Amino acid sequence: MRHIAIIGSGPAGYYTAEAAQKQWGDDVKVDIFDRLPVPYGLIRTGVAPDHQSIKGVSRRYEQTALSDNVSFVGNVTIGEDVSIDELLGLYDAVVLATGAPRDRGLDLPGDHLRNVHGSAAFVGWYNGHPEFAALDPDLSGDTAVVIGMGNVALDVARILSKTREEFAGSDIVGHALEALVASKIRRIVVLGRRGPHQIMMTPKELGELGHLTRAAPRVDPADLPDVGEDALLEPGLRKSVNHLRSFAAIPESHRADVDIEVEFDFFASPRALLGEGKVEAIEVERTRIENGRAVGTGEFYEIPASLVVACIGYRTAPIPGVPFDERAGRFANDEGRILPGLYCVGWARRGPSGTIGTNRPDGFGVVERIAEDMPAPAGRKGREGFDALAAARGLEVVTFRDWKKIEEAEAARARDGAPREKFVDVAEMIRARG
Ligand code: NAP
Repeated sequence: MRHIAIIGSGPAGYYTAEAAQKQWGDDVKVDIFDRLPVPYGLIRTGVAPDHQSIKGVSRRYEQTALSDNVSFVGNVTIGEDVSIDELLGLYDAVVLATGAPRDRGLDLPGDHLRNVHGSAAFVGWYNGHPEFAALDPDLSGDTAVVIGMGNVALDVARILSKTREEFAGSDIVGHALEALVASKIRRIVVLGRRGPHQIMMTPKELGELGHLTRAAPRVDPADLPDVGEDALLEPGLRKSVNHLRSFAAIPESHRADVDIEVEFDFFASPRALLGEGKVEAIEVERTRIENGRAVGTGEFYEIPASLVVACIGYRTAPIPGVPFDERAGRFANDEGRILPGLYCVGWARRGPSGTIGTNRPDGFGVVERIAEDMPAPAGRKGREGFDALAAARGLEVVTFRDWKKIEEAEAARARDGAPREKFVDVAEMIRARG
């Protein structure tokens, strides 16, 4: 029997488990560890609460989770409760599928000011991640600046724009819903250091911004390249740019009907956050594009800002004893191989890019490598050995059956029409399993 430990129960973790089952059938046992008592990682706390159809992919992971040879081992932090070396002694292979849950730093003067948040924290707040549920961002000012032109920036701008009715059917946590409905933000500036042809936003997600009840996007037609140049773009980006063109054509009469403006500020690189204690403005330098890169022009201006959310990418959290590539912000690895017996997959391997589905071939790839490196099992103890260690340390392990009880309790306390009201506190989650 082969024993595989997967660390992280998000998409990369479950696709790796699925791949291991396909590779070895009944000759493998897979334990999926998570530091939280609840599974699914990014699906639960990253994917936007109003994107329930995307979150639905967890039903597929549940099929894997319910197989006899796959177990969920929740509420265990690898690197704290149990070391990597200990796991390597118990399992034939350890696969780190821990994603990229930390914010990349802005590294600008003033980035410590109050109400400057990274997207991991801000998204974690409205998605009920226990680490960020208490963030309590101040939404009492007029203007929010969202830094970055990726899909996370779009999520944040959209969530800041929606009405209570538009959150119907979502699983946005109650504390965030009430704060957002009471929000005084009326201007959301989405700041991009490059231009419309360099955005990372995908068409479906960008299109949503054009269909909000109380908000309208604004794009300055002067920022758009000649329409003929769009022909050179790959089709997805061309569609996104088409959305920008249609936003630029929204008549002023329509804007008069909405409360909130979502303004795209291209060729604008943040240089400093300004304010006394709390952020009050952001200093920006105009850029131009040279060989695809943003180059400062020496022209500076300020945008008043009562809230700043930096959506500029994520980093993997290091684990003691695991080689880490500081510059790239992920584990140092060669196609998923870190050290003998130790692998990584998904965002922890390649950084925060691609769609959820990108992690499936990634999971199959890492299992192929494990199979190449380890043609025969090494007679490790696997779960039995882990359970002995957990008992000796008094760890409170949460199983998949426990999770199903937590899930039931979350469904039972949901608002009308919502699929669940998440517990945002680890102790509450553990209590809910009964
Ligand atoms: P992303 O797509 O890589 O976008 C990051 C943005 O931040 C880019 O516009 C980048 O500009 C900008 N940026 C980086 N450093 C900056 C700096 N120092 N100053 C100013 N701007 C800076 O990352 P993401 O939005 O975090 O998304 C991560 C992944 O999750 C992506 O693959 C995304 O598609 C996916 N996702 C998908 C959905 C969905 O609904 N389908 C939702 C959320 C996330 P440059 O290009 O100039 O570097």
